Amino acid sequence: MNDIRTHTDQILHTKAVRITPMRQLLLDYILTQNQAVGLNELEAEFPKADRITIYRTLKTFEEKGILHSIEQGHSEVQYALCHEECGPEHHVDRHPHFACERCGRIICLEEVFIPRVAIPQGFIQHDVEMTIKGVCGECG
Ligand SMILES: [Zn+2]
Ligand SMILES: [Zn+2]
Ligand SMILES: [Zn+2]
Repeated sequence: MNDIRTHTDQILHTKAVRITPMRQLLLDYILTQNQAVGLNELEAEFPKADRITIYRTLKTFEEKGILHSIEQGHSEVQYALCHEECGPEHHVDRHPHFACERCGRIICLEEVFIPRVAIPQGFIQHDVEMTIKGVCGECG
């Protein structure tokens, strides 16, 4: 756990986010997961923490470039650890995500790059999401 806390503090420091016990607690947990996490899962994991506080912490992490959100349309927004070059209002996580249809976990495919897609003239792109659906190695 000490190694994780060192890593947590390093990330908070690098991304210029003030250290608070709540931020440390959530980031410690997220660092030990090799899949994206959602608000419901975090709330279940930390029953003493208030849902709003967890939500705000996730939003802060997203704004500061610590976590990126993954929207799946029908299901809850998930959050995963960012690339180290992500910063305030600037995310470089342009990778697809793999969603397992059996266990529901979502994994970052960081080594894959999403190509730029030509959109009609006059349109403005804000974001791009690519999800690959299937069965993960643990369920297959
Ligand atoms: Zn990012
Ligand atoms: Zn699975
Ligand atoms: Zn990702």
